[in-house]
Amino acid sequence: MQSNYGVPQLTLVSGKGSIVKDSDGNEYLDFLGGIATNILGHAHPAIIAAVSKQISTLGHVSNFYIHPGVVALAENLQSMTGDSGSRVFFCNSGAEANEAALKLSRKTGRKRIVATQGAFHGRTMGALSLTGQPAKRDPFKPLLPGISHVPFGDLEAMKRKINRKTAMVIVEPILGEAGVVMPPIGYLKGIREICDRTGALMVLDCVQTGMGRTGEWFGYEYEGIVPDVITLAKGLGGGLPLGAMIALGRTSHLFAPGDHGSTFGGNPVACASALAAIDVIEKKSLLKKAQIHEGLIKSELTKLPGVMEVRGQGLLLGIVLAEENSSEVKDALLRAGVLVNSPSPSVIRIAPALTVTGKEVGKFISIFSKVLKENSHG
Ligand SMILES: *Cc1c(COP(=O)(O)O)cnc(C)c1O
Repeated sequence: MQSNYGVPQLTLVSGKGSIVKDSDGNEYLDFLGGIATNILGHAHPAIIAAVSKQISTLGHVSNFYIHPGVVALAENLQSMTGDSGSRVFFCNSGAEANEAALKLSRKTGRKRIVATQGAFHGRTMGALSLTGQPAKRDPFKPLLPGISHVPFGDLEAMKRKINRKTAMVIVEPILGEAGVVMPPIGYLKGIREICDRTGALMVLDCVQTGMGRTGEWFGYEYEGIVPDVITLAKGLGGGLPLGAMIALGRTSHLFAPGDHGSTFGGNPVACASALAAIDVIEKKSLLKKAQIHEGLIKSELTKLPGVMEVRGQGLLLGIVLAEENSSEVKDALLRAGVLVNSPSPSVIRIAPALTVTGKEVGKFISIFSKVLKENSHG
């Protein structure tokens, strides 16, 4: 394989729920969830049943034809948006979902785009052009022209940049890769107002926050707004590759036949997995449970002297450490049997499955407390 990922830390061979096993037989509590992807954990019975049934019935159809699963999934997503006129395009990843939003915005006849510094929107050339991280962008210049990056959370900067030439504004409701950063209250609402005034499309990249991760379906609901475009991937496929771009209101008819496509997008097996995941989230009240786990993790971890703050929503949380040693803490957690990641020098990110149990959350809190104490230098 290419060396683009660096040296992997483990070879994982099996999993069940929130537990994974490596090739030496060691077990780990998986609190990263395939980077917010395994929304129902590993080997969930409902996913196994749905995927097995679908692959033994009809594996792939291409986009010349349609199958019941893709329609059912589109209807599900449509009802979650609250807009019965919204329309869904299916693809396979977050970058592809944002590429679709980018192309959709060109159909307004406008070309300029406003995005935010620190944001992550994917690695393909269009999505990378939206991504606000110089280290990822610089080696690949020139990127798409006409894109400005303003500081995340700064509404005045948005006001200055967005005008009648702006095709779209793209924002993550909570910055994920940049270390789980919440914008100030009123930020998304303010962007909504500027977009209404100027006619720019408001695109919310819910690739990481979406599908129940934040204790709500998409992760922006706390602001009480409705965006023009929602992009999804990560948790959407219940562990299988699946992305979506949902266009609401006046944007729903911008794409015409021939404008865009994806060979695998909306694949029956991935759709069956997604439908099973949504069904389990609803039947087991997992949105509510994510909120309960969030409450416990925040209240227990903020008591620790080495923790400054626990930010984020639901089960997408950033534990802000007093010292800039998150990489050391992450490695010590791995040795203690817990998987997390360190998106920035002082932040540990957790994104466990929504099916994580209270007992597992308790175990995480106790191991984390012990490991943090052992790795504090102050
Ligand atoms: C992960 C991520 C992406 C990119 O998704 P891929 O499936 O890796 O292409 C885009 N936006 C956000 C917010 C993400 O977290």
